[in-house]
Amino acid sequence: MPNVSDRPKTYKKPALEDVDPITNYIPASVLDKFDERQLARFKKVRKFVEFECLPLDTIFLQESILFEYKNDWETCPVIITLRKKLESYGLHKMFVPMDHGGYDNSLNENWEIVNMVEFAMIAFLVGRSVIASYLFHLDDLINMGTIQVLLRHGCTNHEIWVRMINDLVSNNIKSCLMVSERDVAGSDALNTQTKCRIIEGKENEADSMMVLNGEKWFIKDAHDSEVWLILCVTEPEEGNIYRKHSLCLVNRNDVPPYTTKIETIDTNEGIGNFYQVTFKDCKVPLNIVGERGEGYQILQTKSSITRLFQCLKLCGMGQESLRLSNKRAAERKVFGSKLQKSECFKFELAHWRIKVETCKLLCFNAAIKCDYEGVKAAREEIGMVKAVTPKEISSLVDWSIQLHGCYGLCPTRTPLSHMWQVSRSSRINDAPDESLIAQLGRLEISNYNKFQKTYDQELLALAGK
Ligand SMILES: Cc1cc2nc3c(=O)[nH]c(=O)nc-3n(C[C@H](O)[C@H](O)[C@H](O)COP(=O)(O)OP(=O)(O)OC[C@H]3O[C@@H](n4cnc5c(N)ncnc54)[C@H](O)[C@@H]3O)c2cc1C
Repeated sequence: MPNVSDRPKTYKKPALEDVDPITNYIPASVLDKFDERQLARFKKVRKFVEFECLPLDTIFLQESILFEYKNDWETCPVIITLRKKLESYGLHKMFVPMDHGGYDNSLNENWEIVNMVEFAMIAFLVGRSVIASYLFHLDDLINMGTIQVLLRHGCTNHEIWVRMINDLVSNNIKSCLMVSERDVAGSDALNTQTKCRIIEGKENEADSMMVLNGEKWFIKDAHDSEVWLILCVTEPEEGNIYRKHSLCLVNRNDVPPYTTKIETIDTNEGIGNFYQVTFKDCKVPLNIVGERGEGYQILQTKSSITRLFQCLKLCGMGQESLRLSNKRAAERKVFGSKLQKSECFKFELAHWRIKVETCKLLCFNAAIKCDYEGVKAAREEIGMVKAVTPKEISSLVDWSIQLHGCYGLCPTRTPLSHMWQVSRSSRINDAPDESLIAQLGRLEISNYNKFQKTYDQELLALAGK
C-alpha cells in the first residue's frame, strides 16, 4: 500500500462555487435576465462578502460604537482595510440602479449605472454582511436616495448639481432627507408643515433666495451631512394637496449662523444618529429639486427605490440569519443531542427558508417591473414588498436570537442584535406596515371598482342592450 502522500492527486478539492453555485441564490424566473458578465460580477461580490466581510462583521460592530469612530466610520481600521480590498476586487465603483437606462456612465468615473434587477441581486448578496452593506452604500440608502433624486429631477443650480453628485458618489460627503415632523404623523408626507418662502432675485434668477421656517424630527445624520433635502410647503395657496410641497436642496455651508438648531435624539445604539432640526428664518440660495410643487411626487419615486433595495438587503440578512442558525444548531448540544436533530428546529428552519424565498421573489418581481415599465408603474409591487419583508425578516432574526440563547443577545459577538434593530426599525421607517397595507387596500378597491364598471358595461353590450 503506497503512502498517502505518494498517491496520485486526482482529486481536486471543491471550491465554494462548486458545492454552492451562485445560481442557488438567483430565483429561476430571473436567471435569464443575467448574462455571463453579470454572473461573473455576482460571483465576485459574493466572494468579497463571504471571505472578506463576514469574518470582520463583529469586529466592525465593536469598532463602530467606539467614541472615536462613532460619527465617521470611514476612519474605522476595518473599513480602511476593506476599502483597499474592494479596489483589488474591482468593486470600488458605486453601483447606481436605474430603470429604463438612459444615463451615461461617463458622467462620473466613480460610478457604474446598472439596471434594477442587477442591483437587486447585488443588494441581496451584500445584505448578508453589516460591513458590506456599509461599503456598498446600502446601510441606510440615504445617499443612494439623494443621488436618485438629483439624477432623475435635476435642480435649479446645475453647477451645484454636478458637484453634489460627484461628492456623493466619491463618498466625500453625506446627505440627509428631512421629511418627518414631530407634531404630525410622518406616515403621510402630505402632513409636512415646514414652510419655505421664495424671494425671487431682482436682477437675475441666481440671486433668488428661500427662507425656511419649521421643525424636522428624527433626521438621520443631519449633524454630519453637507447636503440637506428638505420637504417644505412652497405653494400654500395651491388647491391640489399633492402640489403644495417642494423638495428644497440646501448646502449646509450656505446656512447662516443661528438660523438652525440641531439637537440629538436619544435612540437605541446601532440604528444610527438622529437629530431634531429647527429652522428659524433660515435664508439660503434658492435651489429646488425638479419643479416647484412636485416635491411629494419626487419623494414617492425616491421612496419606492430605497424601499425596494432596503427589502432586498433585508432578504440578504435573512439568508445570513439562517446560516448562523444552521451553524449554531450543528454545534450546540441540548439535553444530549444536537439542536439540529430536534424536530422543532427542522420545522422552523424550513418555515423561515420559505419566508426568505417568498420575500425575495416579491422583490425580484418588483425590480423586473421597474426595468420594464419604470419605478412609478411598480409602486404597488414595491408597496407589497415593503409591507411584508421587514416584518418577516425581523421575526426570522428574532427566532435566530432565541436559538442562540443569551449569546444571541450580545450585540458585538454576533450581528443578530444589529440585524434585529435594522429589520425592526424598517417596519416604521419610510412608511409603517399599516400605512402601506391601508394604501394597498385602497388601491385594490379602486381597481375592483374600475374592473366591475367596465365588466358590467361589456356584459350589457354583449347582451345587446
Ligand atoms: C430608523 C429610522 C430612520 C428614520 N430616518 C428618517 C430620516 O432620515 N428623515 C426623516 O424625515 N424621517 C426619518 N424617520 C422617520 C420615519 O420616516 C417616520 O417615523 C415614519 O414615517 C412614521 O412616522 P411617525 O413616526 O410619525 O408615525 P405615525 O405616522 O404617527 O404612525 C404611527 C403608527 O400609526 C399606525 N398607522 C399609521 N398609518 C396607518 C394607517 N393608514 N392605518 C392604520 N394604522 C396606521 C402605524 O402602526 C404606525 O406605526 C426614520 C425613522 C426610523 C425608524
